[in-house]
Amino acid sequence: MDISTGLASFSAMSDLFALLVNERDRQKATAIQVEFTNKLIEAQTHLSQLQGTVIEQQRLIASLEQRVRDMSAREAEKERYVLSKVGSHREFFAYRLRGAAELVERADEIDHFLCQPCFDSGKKVVLSGNGEGYWECPVCRHGSQTTHSKVSIRRRIAGG
Ligand SMILES: [Zn+2]
Repeated sequence: MDISTGLASFSAMSDLFALLVNERDRQKATAIQVEFTNKLIEAQTHLSQLQGTVIEQQRLIASLEQRVRDMSAREAEKERYVLSKVGSHREFFAYRLRGAAELVERADEIDHFLCQPCFDSGKKVVLSGNGEGYWECPVCRHGSQTTHSKVSIRRRIAGG
């Protein structure tokens, strides 16, 4: 329902009201009264439909504003990390927290890596290391040995 239809109803109502005031013939006055009532109902219907549309649009705007805020927050979070190679043994990549000098806000955060497939799909998962160069995502199990492990170095030294 558009505003012009609503306004047209009001305009028709005021024309009828003017007729009603000047009308001396009772029968005609009654007919005008009935028409006036019908126009009033029509205008009220238009108004309530218009009000429904406005409420619906306000809800849509609020939900879109929330989505924009969420997207901005996600983008700001992505900016805090940089894709980096982990270790030296394999081509294994993860998102590393940028250095303190590069970050605007950094509250005593320890250096860490985030799982690349998870972070790219919107999940923030810190990689776990076993202390011997093996890094793995605890959620999707994406992982790799990124340095020669102490065991394999010992084996190589021993000629194994
Ligand atoms: Zn993962």
